[in-house]
Amino acid sequence: MMNSSLIGPITVVTPDENLRMKVIEAAWVAILGNRIMYAGPSEQSALQALPGLPGERIGGQQRIILPAMANAHGHIPMTLLRNQAGDYALHDWLCKFVFPREQRLRQQSVYWGSLLGMCEMIRNGTGAAAEMYYFHEASALAALESGFRLNFCCDIKMTGENNETKLMPGLLEDQIRQYQQHPSGLLRVSMLVHSIYLYKADLYPQMAEIAASLACDVQVHVSETRQEVEDCLAQYGCRPPRQLEQFGFFKTRTIAAHCVHLDDSDRQILARNPVLVAHNPSSNLKLGSGMADVPAMIRAGIRVGLGTDGAASNNNLDLYREMRLASFLAKGTSCDATRLPAAAVLNMATCQGMRGMGFADSGRIEAGCLADLQIVHYNRPSMTPLGDPVEALVYSADGNCVESLMVNGRWLMRGRELLTIDEERVLHTAAKEAERLNVPLA
Ligand SMILES: [Zn+2]
Repeated sequence: MMNSSLIGPITVVTPDENLRMKVIEAAWVAILGNRIMYAGPSEQSALQALPGLPGERIGGQQRIILPAMANAHGHIPMTLLRNQAGDYALHDWLCKFVFPREQRLRQQSVYWGSLLGMCEMIRNGTGAAAEMYYFHEASALAALESGFRLNFCCDIKMTGENNETKLMPGLLEDQIRQYQQHPSGLLRVSMLVHSIYLYKADLYPQMAEIAASLACDVQVHVSETRQEVEDCLAQYGCRPPRQLEQFGFFKTRTIAAHCVHLDDSDRQILARNPVLVAHNPSSNLKLGSGMADVPAMIRAGIRVGLGTDGAASNNNLDLYREMRLASFLAKGTSCDATRLPAAAVLNMATCQGMRGMGFADSGRIEAGCLADLQIVHYNRPSMTPLGDPVEALVYSADGNCVESLMVNGRWLMRGRELLTIDEERVLHTAAKEAERLNVPLA
């Protein structure tokens, strides 16, 4: 028989189908298997939504239930590079610090670094992430073992004879069959297109064609720095979004990370295509890349999610901190306190992010949706008095307020205890692996 749970009475905070934020006090939530069967004010209706008596009843006093969050951009195994080179400019940081360490990466580094990041995200109420790094199968394995949703990148480039880069569409096809159709339903596969500046020009149209022919998601960094935009203008005569479109991208679901430096025509291009912009406020500030104008994106009709980027440029994976920062940045830079209200950023971190990553049934606490949810316990000084629950979650809470997290109907954390990951072993082994990667700065 399938697992069933009844949670309540509890405060539900959730976006609805039209992305309006909804608060239901003293609500009941019924879960059967991996689906939410009912979420609303009636205990009677919640019970009727289940085939028999609930397998488990969970109280919700002084608690809020909200969707699990979606981290729309990151490089999870970079947890291993955390707190190693704090205050370097992007180019120096990459060349002197990141690349030498990444040369020592092996399968196990990525596996343990991924588990470490997943421990952290699960503790912070995040149940899904978009992932772009090396040894992607090690990340997929970590996600399957943790019960974590992952849309991960597959690199289809290979260096052949004479240093020629070859593409391997067969590999992508195979990975989609193996992982995207995995019975767990937890995984999606994206084609890795690092950015407009890293590959030779003739590769891009071929990659775009492969993505389109396989209906494959794409993840790409777009207009992260002013330099990137200037270089693109110099090389191609137009800005990154238009050039990517001209190469044939944006025909399939695309996660465009950063988008810090956009003009009106860039925004039109991103708005008219199936693109999720992943906004990474901490990373953009820490690397001195600038500040993305999120309200302008939303006005233009772009879908925007929230990401942490890698732990090497953040240096944590807590979307609660990103929500607060995203809202404050929008207000502060415009001198307008009405910009990017709490409900808008909570939407970005949950429903928008899940949809843009291809998990359309997730991101809402609503009958029919996947049981991807978190419970926040607000009986603590920083959240007393609670006041408006949406404001409390975005401005007062942090990841430590999350008590429990469920993904796909399975508890990954209950009462702050991780249930799918041996945390002690992960902390120990990941620290060892990080030590092995560590080389002195040049
Ligand atoms: Zn990135």
